Amino acid sequence: MMNSIEYIDIVIVGAGFTGLSAAKYFSSKSIKSVIIEGRSRLGGRTLTKKICDDDNNQVIIDLGGQWITKNQKRIFSFIREYNIDLIEQTWFNENPNYLGQLIGLKPLNNEQLDIINQINDQWDSMALEFENVENALLYEKSSQWDKISLKTFIEQHELVNDLRIIQELKLQILTLTACDCENVSLLYWLIFIRSIPGGLKTLDDGFNGAQQYKIKYGTESLCLKLANDQEIRFNEQLTSVDYSLNDKILLKFNSNKQIICQRLLLAFSSTLISPIKFIPNIESNYLSSAMIAGQCIKTIFIYSKPYWKDRKINQSNKQGPCSNIFELKNPHGLIGLILGNDCSLWMNKNENELIQSIVEQYQLLYNINETPLKTFIHYWPKESLSKGSYAAIYPPSLSSKWFHRNQSLINNRIWLASTESALEWITYIEGAIEAGQRFAQYIINSF
Ligand SMILES: Cc1cc2nc3c(=O)[nH]c(=O)nc-3n(C[C@H](O)[C@H](O)[C@H](O)COP(=O)(O)OP(=O)(O)OC[C@H]3O[C@@H](n4cnc5c(N)ncnc54)[C@H](O)[C@@H]3O)c2cc1C
Repeated sequence: MMNSIEYIDIVIVGAGFTGLSAAKYFSSKSIKSVIIEGRSRLGGRTLTKKICDDDNNQVIIDLGGQWITKNQKRIFSFIREYNIDLIEQTWFNENPNYLGQLIGLKPLNNEQLDIINQINDQWDSMALEFENVENALLYEKSSQWDKISLKTFIEQHELVNDLRIIQELKLQILTLTACDCENVSLLYWLIFIRSIPGGLKTLDDGFNGAQQYKIKYGTESLCLKLANDQEIRFNEQLTSVDYSLNDKILLKFNSNKQIICQRLLLAFSSTLISPIKFIPNIESNYLSSAMIAGQCIKTIFIYSKPYWKDRKINQSNKQGPCSNIFELKNPHGLIGLILGNDCSLWMNKNENELIQSIVEQYQLLYNINETPLKTFIHYWPKESLSKGSYAAIYPPSLSSKWFHRNQSLINNRIWLASTESALEWITYIEGAIEAGQRFAQYIINSF
């Protein structure tokens, strides 16, 4: 039996922050849209879990995107609008001077710190050579910067004269992109930096850095507010887009549901586009083939007490799986990120082995024999509707395949937007909001 076809003017596929912000933007202009989501939940690359603490109280942990900072003006405007409570991040090592400090890497001396700061300043000023993110590809040096990987840039830098500096700079790139530096083009890196108001310094850890606040009741609580009054359908995965018909787009979903719409916003990363059949075919062009997804396993280990607070970090070059460790307060815990190539490695191993290695990493780091009460491990690359981590990035030599951030995917009828296509705060929740709002306006302009 044929399924009946439904008519909807504007369809948004994806209920992450991009899709939700676009739908809210349409509503603010009294325009109706419908969100269709492949998963059974909101939030995409954000994921809030409610767990019970020792006293059987419900507490919140976030296994995806979570930290925000005050100069992310769009998310803060939602936070004020919905009166959302925040928690200020606590740091067991206030204002760390360098990332390796938190995982016990050998301390940097003043001279090494100075060189790292100089290279960061250089990246900030190179990024400012772009007039803006939108026109970055038109800049005369872009094709030259595109050919260089960050690994080459660092290793051949005239100021870099020892391995510890290389190690720290590589850790910085891994932390911010979830990719190892050989896979990241200098051009992508500079455009990413250009998209951060205030540049790399804004992304420091510690107070006033990009990890300053989290949402008290979890990131999902903001998604739920954004979703309020929106029509959202879950468990419908888009499988085909037929735009051969004049003025109409026929969408098919894995449930066999069919929708005809006039305008379509695909609110997800371009790395997720390849399983979707387009009729006619879109060139196997700049889209899926060009970007690679950062890789991240986010882990949260809950302990009976914050034993790390009064302990000196054990400096040793022996490292465990986590390249970044943050403190979690209420419940007491440690958040560990496993990123890039290490993530790919641990994805293929047994989860118990991973848990054991992290326990040992923390025991060595804090020189104490503590074991966690509970452990949570989220393998983001295993989710077919995320595939990777905070964001997809461009590897070296693919600038000709760049997807433009201010254009439609197909003839002012179909758009592709996500944090990856943001003009500000690329890779962050704030970037997703920026992209969602801006692309919603492009769609309005297209009628
Ligand atoms: C571990 C981790 C930590 C992070 N930490 C931070 C942080 O601290 N701060 C911060 O600001 N950002 C952080 N981020 C990044 C942030 O979460 C993302 O930038 C943001 O959530 C992306 O939103 P989006 O809407 O662009 O994409 P997504 O959230 O990926 O949303 C896309 C949606 O589209 C749906 N979808 C995809 N394909 C289809 C299909 N064919 N049919 C139907 N639906 C489909 C997906 O299910 C998903 O819901 C982190 C991300 C991860 C994974």
